[in-house]
Amino acid sequence: MILMKNIIREGHKTLETVAKPVHVPLSKADKKTLKSLLEFVINSQDETMVERYDLRPAVGLAAPQINVSKRMFAVHVHDLDGTLYSYALVNPVLKEKSKDLIYLPGGEGCLSVDRETEGLTPRYREVVFEALAYDDVSDLLVPVALHLEGYVGIVFQHEYDHLNGILFTTKLFPELPHAEPAYKVVEPDESLPENHV
Ligand code: ZN
Repeated sequence: MILMKNIIREGHKTLETVAKPVHVPLSKADKKTLKSLLEFVINSQDETMVERYDLRPAVGLAAPQINVSKRMFAVHVHDLDGTLYSYALVNPVLKEKSKDLIYLPGGEGCLSVDRETEGLTPRYREVVFEALAYDDVSDLLVPVALHLEGYVGIVFQHEYDHLNGILFTTKLFPELPHAEPAYKVVEPDESLPENHV
């Protein structure tokens, strides 16, 4: 299983490298990696596992973050209305994006970035990703087209950036006058607790 020590941090070359497409059908090793990415994200949201293995809570993890430079990432995130988006994706492609921009009001976080960051990261309000999604029941890859918006869309875009060697720290702005917050903030310093990706 993936532990925090397996996650590479900013400054590592793999995080700045465009990842390679994954050969399909998946090799045993690639399948194991893909499944372990999703397993880590799910574990990181389980209090017992977090305590036992000293995990940082996350909603997504991309293969380059464990030093595997291949186009795979996993997301396990609840939207603000409670809908769960749980995917282990292979070779995702950003097919459509809105003109409108949004941002996470508290700024983004990343398991590969250990320091506090200041600034906002612009993301598209709506995106469509096409990918192959791993289906645990059939043990097969299934083609999917995911229409995502708001907070969940931001999480997917953050992970997708990892496949292109881009960290959110290269996209920090003190303000974004042409973008809107992804959700309303009640307290000035309120942000979602599990926004590490
Ligand atoms: Zn990240």
